Amino acid sequence: MKETVRPGQHITEPAKRVPVVTDADVLIAGAGPAGVSAALAAARGGAKVCLLEANGCLGGVWTAGLLTWMFEMNQPGIPRDISRHLGHRGARIDGHDPNMYTYDIEEMKILLEEMCIEAGIRFQLHTRVVSCVKNGSGIDAVATESKSGRQAWRAKVFVDATGDGDLAALAGCGYDLGRNSDGACQPMTYMALVAVRDLETIRPFICFWDRGEQKQHKTVNYEAVRAFRSEIQRAGIAPSYSQTKLFQVRNNLMALMVNHEYAASAIEAADLTRATVHGRAEVHRVTKGLQKLGGGWESLQLVATCEHIGVREGRRIHGLYTVTQEDLASGRLHDDAVCKVHFGIDVHSTSAAKSKGQDDSIYGASMLPYDIPMRALIAQDVPNLLLGGRCISGDFIAHSSYRVTGTAAATGQAAGVAAALSAGLHTVPSKLQWMDIKKALEKITESEQEVRR
Ligand SMILES: Cc1cc2nc3c(=O)[nH]c(=O)nc-3n(C[C@H](O)[C@H](O)[C@H](O)COP(=O)(O)OP(=O)(O)OC[C@H]3O[C@@H](n4cnc5c(N)ncnc54)[C@H](O)[C@@H]3O)c2cc1C
Repeated sequence: MKETVRPGQHITEPAKRVPVVTDADVLIAGAGPAGVSAALAAARGGAKVCLLEANGCLGGVWTAGLLTWMFEMNQPGIPRDISRHLGHRGARIDGHDPNMYTYDIEEMKILLEEMCIEAGIRFQLHTRVVSCVKNGSGIDAVATESKSGRQAWRAKVFVDATGDGDLAALAGCGYDLGRNSDGACQPMTYMALVAVRDLETIRPFICFWDRGEQKQHKTVNYEAVRAFRSEIQRAGIAPSYSQTKLFQVRNNLMALMVNHEYAASAIEAADLTRATVHGRAEVHRVTKGLQKLGGGWESLQLVATCEHIGVREGRRIHGLYTVTQEDLASGRLHDDAVCKVHFGIDVHSTSAAKSKGQDDSIYGASMLPYDIPMRALIAQDVPNLLLGGRCISGDFIAHSSYRVTGTAAATGQAAGVAAALSAGLHTVPSKLQWMDIKKALEKITESEQEVRR
């Protein structure tokens, strides 16, 4: 892959007149767990909503990333709504607690589309937000690139749910990326789906499967994780991720997690390309190696690889409040809490130095359930911009806990509610009364039925 422009060289593009596609109340960039939840919440709050997504499906890591594995989803409102719908469709395998389950990706794709259509959200796939035009310190419109060329989208209030904080960075917000001391980020993971003819033949290597009425392990079955790693090693392969996992998604379909891509930046296309190419090659190597072992592995098929490599870390945008490691240690509560986080600190090693004893992963460090305050979702530097998902305001350690999908959906939901209120009241999010946001959030959860388990 040759560079076409040498560092230091530039071209100047001629200015263009860009057609304005729509005027919305609320525009959301990125349709992952946070973006879809923000859009649904804003639409349920009565706003005219636009949702723009770079991939060919809604759902982000849930779908294009082939994650299949949920944490913290028993949150009131949209996270529980999604969980309930998946359950009704028979598209969920439940875990030990309602926060944790695996789901069928194709059902998730269609479910999110149906929910957004029903809510009257205007969404456009294959459409990337690439710049923004400001009106003083606020955002007036964003511009996108797609097969339609360049298009402009105006709104009163914007939500950055791109995971990587693309819109906030384009609007000039301050941000942090990676660990403070050296900027190192957690690795990316290239996910895949695999199938075997008969799941029973490889059962000891599956760390999560449908046990019917039987009790699941609290998280994953680590005996199975170790046994699976030994099988990969028996095939002559040293996997880049030591916690190799196979979990059942539906019938004989499983998610395969064996890859870590280190030292790759989420905001560098060349890094994303390298990580994707390495990740895909590793997934092929592992599946072919296992097939050669024979026995239950003989029928192993690689069914699909992810459309987008799973990115754990991108920009953390500066907000009116920064969630910190100390907040986790003390279980800090806030008057303007939008959700509670129970998931622990989970920093994956930033380098492949495990064998040299330089593993810097942090897992299971002591913490107490803590609150995410509304202020962590309000951008510090741009008045009409809210944040949802993994790009909210927090430090490196706190991010490793609140980044999981249920929390991303809950913060997205709160950002959507505040955005709709702001647009309706013609004010900026920081000027809203917390009691008004709280009431609007409660309204979203009012109609929610109890999750029967
Ligand atoms: C490998 C991996 C394993 C994980 N394991 C778990 C787990 O087991 N359980 C769990 O609950 N969580 C897990 N997580 C964490 C969790 O999945 C993510 O942190 C969560 O998806 C964050 O949601 P999000 O909506 O903020 O971001 P994302 O899911 O990344 O969604 C962002 C969306 O924005 C779109 N986008 C980005 N830039 C633009 C742009 N400029 N214009 C338009 N669209 C754009 C992207 O295409 C994407 O669809 C894991 C994450 C990874 C990567």
